[in-house]
Amino acid sequence: MRGHLTTAAALLTASLLLTGCGGVGDAARPEGERGVVGISMPTQSSERWINDGENMVAEFESRGFGTDLQYAEDVVEDQVAQIENMITRGADVLVIAAVDGEALGDVLDMADAGDIPVIAYDRLIRGSEHVDYYATFDNFEVGVLQGRYIVDALDLESGEGPFNIELFGGSPDDNNAYFFNDGAMSVLQPHIDDGTLVVRSGQTGMEQIAIHRWDGATAQARMDNLLSANYSDEEVHAVLSPYDGISLGVIESLRAVGYGTDSRPFPVVTGQDAEVASVMSIIAGEQTQTVFKDTRALAEQTVTMVEAVVEGEEVPVNDTESYDNGARVVPSYLLEPVSVDIDNYHEVLVGSGYYEESDLR
Ligand code: BGC
Repeated sequence: MRGHLTTAAALLTASLLLTGCGGVGDAARPEGERGVVGISMPTQSSERWINDGENMVAEFESRGFGTDLQYAEDVVEDQVAQIENMITRGADVLVIAAVDGEALGDVLDMADAGDIPVIAYDRLIRGSEHVDYYATFDNFEVGVLQGRYIVDALDLESGEGPFNIELFGGSPDDNNAYFFNDGAMSVLQPHIDDGTLVVRSGQTGMEQIAIHRWDGATAQARMDNLLSANYSDEEVHAVLSPYDGISLGVIESLRAVGYGTDSRPFPVVTGQDAEVASVMSIIAGEQTQTVFKDTRALAEQTVTMVEAVVEGEEVPVNDTESYDNGARVVPSYLLEPVSVDIDNYHEVLVGSGYYEESDLR
């Protein structure tokens, strides 16, 4: 297969050189005998999306598809332009993880005009009826795992407390951020209501706690402010963080005011994605938990769904109710996330071959 694709890519390059109509990236577009899949990913600044892209390319190519993989580096206009280019270059199917879930309506109209099916990958694309399917994890459950971890770690069910907690949310333009928060708050809110968890800043709504584009430095700055305004005489016992990059920013802020010693340990800090830096932080006793979402499984599921779409077969979905994008309820396939901490990281991450032992040193 690789040989075939390489030859095809070489022929394509040669013909583009001859006709002189190749744009940037055209030479990298291998034709697959089953068609070309345009894969639009949000950013390479987070390892998970690099893994997602690589896993999908490998899986699509092993099943006879060509791929056109692009990263938008979190710039909405660049993502729109990249998807337009994929359509112009003849993509047969689009798989898109949106930078901004609300910003792709026009380019999806263009895909629809070309009869190009669209699969939303991991993040729901909102406000367009031209989203055919959605492959993701159970995003509400991700939040439940984070919230439940905090409740168990602080032993709240045995009547311990009260404890101080601060809350962080994901990017307000990412539909997932609300699902994560709703899931976590379904577990935490009863404890806030009965006073066993106290949010000293009083900041609990998404409009107060959301971190634009999931940026770790923004999270660190917000944590600096929370600590100086509310914790000069009090300790923070837990931080709800929806994503590893945010968790590491929060931890740096805590370290700067003296947390992370034997007498003053870090609070419970959750996370998501089991990125290498965060798993190493867990091993070092800093971050407490993360949520592992196996990008290999998501890539494989997506490829299976694309294959079914292309062959006109029934597309496997397991949720036809949860993901209303404002224009339609998008049929979805939800995979199960797994909570990871110091006790099970080795079994879950190394045991499954997701990481090598040496990656985590
Ligand atoms: C993904 C998470 C990721 C976050 C930041 C979300 O849409 O579902 O896995 O942590 O984006 O990249």
